[in-house]
Amino acid sequence: MRNITIAIDGFSSTGKSTLAKQLAKELAYVYVDTGAMYRAVTLFAMNNNFIKADFFDKKALINSLPKIKLEFKYNPELGFAEMYLNGENVEKQIRTIEVSSFVSKVAEVSEVRSKLVEQQQEMGTNKAIVMDGRDIGTVVFPMAELKIFMTASAETRAQRRFDELRQKGDNVSYEDVLKNVVERDYIDTHREDSPLVIADDAIEIDNSYLNREEQFTAVLELVNE
Ligand code: C5P
Repeated sequence: MRNITIAIDGFSSTGKSTLAKQLAKELAYVYVDTGAMYRAVTLFAMNNNFIKADFFDKKALINSLPKIKLEFKYNPELGFAEMYLNGENVEKQIRTIEVSSFVSKVAEVSEVRSKLVEQQQEMGTNKAIVMDGRDIGTVVFPMAELKIFMTASAETRAQRRFDELRQKGDNVSYEDVLKNVVERDYIDTHREDSPLVIADDAIEIDNSYLNREEQFTAVLELVNE
């Protein structure tokens, strides 16, 4: 089988990472979750009080960017790589609703985007890779051989995210999760630097009515075409 770059972009909670992980496992490709990188930078900003409630000291975050070291380390028990921020495993901490509520603001900062895009390009160039995010097919790897763009209604996505957070013991309400999904969509599609858009040559999959297996089979067929 040929080694290709697979870009999976789309709105939040469309099941991008589930699909990307499944594909990477099946094809023995490297999987990179770029959202985890934006989330880790957000956690760093929160831990340093650069961002809270209505306050965001962008300058302080930009000045601190050289101090932020992000790494993915493969966890064989889980079967995927976990996110490390300055040597600490932050995989759990970056998935909270607090981080979700700030991450799109951090992802709007051009300096943050350039740093992360550069790192993503270094990680993925000339590798058999599945990378998921918002700008993989448009900015990070515009030459990717296969580009998938995933969508689903905001309500479907909020319900999925709500179920996931509740399962992890996070005591959130469905309304708050829906509000966060809608807010993130708005910021992601309206930011000046690399707004979330579908690449001209991407294949759009609306998975509101597709189950995991149907979706996986459909994409695997595209890989093998
Ligand atoms: O994919 P996930 O929902 O974990 O991403 C969190 C946030 O990070 C997104 O809402 C978006 O604001 C930002 N992001 C981005 N570009 C990427 C990946 C994520 O702007 N490539």
